[in-house]
Amino acid sequence: MTYQYWHPDIETMPRPELEALQLKKLRDMITYSLRTPFYAPKLHAAGIKGPEDLKTLDDLKRIPFTTKHDLRDGFPYGFLSIPKEEVIRLHASSGTTGTPTTIYFNREDLRRWTSYVARCIYGTGCNNTDVFQNMITYGLFTGGLGFHAGGEEVGMLVIPSGSGNTTRQFRLMQDFGTTVVHATPSFLLHVESIMRAEGVSRDSLRLKRAFAGAEPYSEDTRRRIEGLLGIDVFNSYGLSEMNGPGVAFECQCKNGLHLWEDGYIAEIINPDTLEPVREGETGELVLTILCREATPILRYRTRDLTGFYTEPCACGRSHRRIRRITGRSDDMLIINGVNVFPSQIEEVIMAMKEVGNNYLIEIEKDGVLDRLTVKTEVGPETFMDDSRLLNALKERIRKTLQASITINPRVELHESGSLPVSEGKAKRVYDKRPKDV
Ligand code: ADP
Ligand code: ZN
Repeated sequence: MTYQYWHPDIETMPRPELEALQLKKLRDMITYSLRTPFYAPKLHAAGIKGPEDLKTLDDLKRIPFTTKHDLRDGFPYGFLSIPKEEVIRLHASSGTTGTPTTIYFNREDLRRWTSYVARCIYGTGCNNTDVFQNMITYGLFTGGLGFHAGGEEVGMLVIPSGSGNTTRQFRLMQDFGTTVVHATPSFLLHVESIMRAEGVSRDSLRLKRAFAGAEPYSEDTRRRIEGLLGIDVFNSYGLSEMNGPGVAFECQCKNGLHLWEDGYIAEIINPDTLEPVREGETGELVLTILCREATPILRYRTRDLTGFYTEPCACGRSHRRIRRITGRSDDMLIINGVNVFPSQIEEVIMAMKEVGNNYLIEIEKDGVLDRLTVKTEVGPETFMDDSRLLNALKERIRKTLQASITINPRVELHESGSLPVSEGKAKRVYDKRPKDV
C-alpha cells in the first residue's frame, strides 16, 4: 500500500527531533500560560517563572494536573491568555458530564487546528476528488466546524449537512455523489437501519469511507458498520479542551490512532495513584496542548481510558498510536458492587448478528439490589412474532452477557428501529437509581 502524508516531514519525523520540537513548543505554551489567571500562580508555585525554567520534557511533571473541575472554576476567562480583541472564535464541550467548558482561538490557532484535521483526513486516503458530507452537529460542538474546515483544507467538496434528518441525508448523498461522511458511530448504525427501511440501495450511493468518533464504540461495531455499508470506517478521537477533532486518528492501517505528538504531549497515568503506567498499559490519558496560544491547557486529565501501542505502525508515521478508547473512567457503573463499563456490554451484543443496530442500558433499584436491564433491537430479519426464537435469542444474550460482566441482566428485545436515537452523542445509559446526597 502507498501511504499518503499531509505533512510528510512532521508525520515521519524521527523521535529525537519530534521530542525536541515538543520541548520548544511546550516552552511557548508556558509563556502563554503565565499570562492566564489560572496558571500564573500555579506555575510560580512550581518554581516556573519563564519558559527557560523547563530544561527537558520531564520538567512538565513539575506542573500539577488540570481537571475538568478546574476548567469550570476558570469559566469564563480564567484560561484566556491573550487580549479579547485577538480572539476570533470560541467553542464549548458538549457537556456530557455537566457544565460545558469553553475554549478560545486566535486566527493562527484556528489555522493550526484546521491543518491537524486535514492531516487526519488526508491520511485515510481522501483527496480533492472526494465529496464530504459532514453529518454531525454544527455550532458550539467542535466536530462540525472542525471537520468542515479540515475537509475544505484537503480540497474536498464539503456538504455541511449537519446531523439528523436521515431522509435528507440520503438525498444529499445521491444528488452529489457523497464519497465520505463524518458522523457518530451510533448515527451511522441508524443510517443503515433507515436505509433498509426506506429501500435505499447501497448501489445508489458512492460512499467509500466514514470518520466515526465523538463517542466510544467497539471493534465489532466498526466491523458491523463497514459490513453493512460496504465502506472503510476510521476512528476519530478528540475533545474540545484539546481543540476538538484532530488529536488522534486512524491511518489506512486501521490499527490504533496516531496521536499527533507535535501538537500534543500525551501521558498515561493510573487514575488512582496518578503515577505513569508502564508503556503499553491502560490508564487515563493526560494531554498538554502545544498548538493553541489563546487557551493553553497543561496536563489535562481527559478521564479517557487507553494505552499506547508499543510497536511502530506499518504506515511509517513516528507519532505513537493509542488504542481505541473504551470509555471514560467516570463511565464506570457499579452494579451490585461489580464494576461494569458500558463498552463491555456493547462488545458482547454487537458481536451477535441477530442483534440490531441500537441498544440501551437501564439500571434500577429493586429492593436493596441493583437491577440491570439491557434493551436491544433485533435485526430486521427477525420476526417479532416468533416467540420461541425470541426467547432463545434473549436467553443467549443473557448468558453471554453474564459470562462477560458476571452480572445477570434482564434482556428485552425491541423491534428494529424502535429504540430512541440521539442526534449528537448517543445516550445509552439510564441510571435510575436514587443518587446518594
Ligand atoms: P464532552 O466531554 O462534554 O462530551 P466533547 O464534545 O469535547 O465534550 O467530547 C470529548 C469526549 O468524547 C472525549 O473526552 C471522549 O470521552 C469522547 N470521544 C471523542 N472521540 C472518541 C472516540 N473516537 N472514541 C471514544 N470516545 C471518544
Ligand atoms: Zn499508521
